[in-house]
Amino acid sequence: MQISDHDFNIIIGSTSLVLMISDLERPIAAWKGTERLGDRILPSLTIIFRSAGCSWSRCRMCSYRHERYVTRQSVESLTTHLRAQLAYVLDQYPPDTIELVKIFTSGSFFDPAEVPPAFVAEIAETFRGKVIIAETRPEFVNEEVLRDFIGTAGTGRTEIPLYCAIGLETSNDAIRSRSIDKGFRFRDFTDAARAAHAAGAGVKAYLLFKPLFLTEKEAMDDMRASMRDAADHAELISMNPCTVQRNTELEGYWKRGAYRPPYLWSVLELLKEAPVHILCDPLGGGQKRGPHNCGTCDYDLVQGIRDYSLNADRELVGALLETECGCKDEWAFVLSEERPYAMPLTR
Ligand code: SF4
Ligand SMILES: [Zn+2]
Repeated sequence: MQISDHDFNIIIGSTSLVLMISDLERPIAAWKGTERLGDRILPSLTIIFRSAGCSWSRCRMCSYRHERYVTRQSVESLTTHLRAQLAYVLDQYPPDTIELVKIFTSGSFFDPAEVPPAFVAEIAETFRGKVIIAETRPEFVNEEVLRDFIGTAGTGRTEIPLYCAIGLETSNDAIRSRSIDKGFRFRDFTDAARAAHAAGAGVKAYLLFKPLFLTEKEAMDDMRASMRDAADHAELISMNPCTVQRNTELEGYWKRGAYRPPYLWSVLELLKEAPVHILCDPLGGGQKRGPHNCGTCDYDLVQGIRDYSLNADRELVGALLETECGCKDEWAFVLSEERPYAMPLTR
């Protein structure tokens, strides 16, 4: 799941947002912003609904899966809670000024065990005429379900009224399995993309830059290949530089000095080389748990990456990469000298 810095406080601990989490009738978070879609910049609303939770719930870097109703809910009770969350959001953010809605559930919006189909239909009705981007694992991308959704949500105003946002993370099956434990193959993603396209939906691929067990250089090479591979199947690609979230396996490695989040220099280099425009909001950028450099140059670079994500100005990325800072030598050293773990293949 990819969310913005706004929600990062939840992960690393913010008392104000912790209060929100405890309220069952409110979403985990919701906020207004702007989002680039193709050549347009649209006013957007992001909603993270509390749901029954991710049915996979195993990814090594993910703490969102803990954001769920703790007690088992009947379909009726879950639907009631979700409706209350939606009413709260509509009250806070009247949808008339919004053109794009991003929906997260800390799992999969189209998983019927997580979000009752009746509520999925209500979302289509509520945000009819807007562009809706909904996150889901590929196994829940069902052509018929998407056709129904688009039948309600689409008005012909936008060519693609719905995008399925899928956390592909990497196009490399071994890395997705060993470093992330994601539980699906690249083939599953491409099958889901085909089903989404057949239904008239678009695809947004989320890529995870630098999961566990990779050197900085291995992670960069993985992203270069993943961007190329994902571009054949997705209209939108978002790169998520890895952050260390609480209560995750990744955090355990990080605490023992066995993981470092990626350098912002690497993020910039990847954005500069990318074959297509890549959306990127460096969650926790400049902090020790997020993608960071030395602490001196971080703020401007994070800001610049966010600007680039919105305005797609490649020259800006080039200029940021020219920024002078002593940590650039350190980054170059890491790229050339860091060696992978010698993991035994047998016991
Ligand atoms: S599928 Fe998504 S929500 Fe579920 S554990 Fe993995 S990253 Fe977290
Ligand atoms: Zn620096």
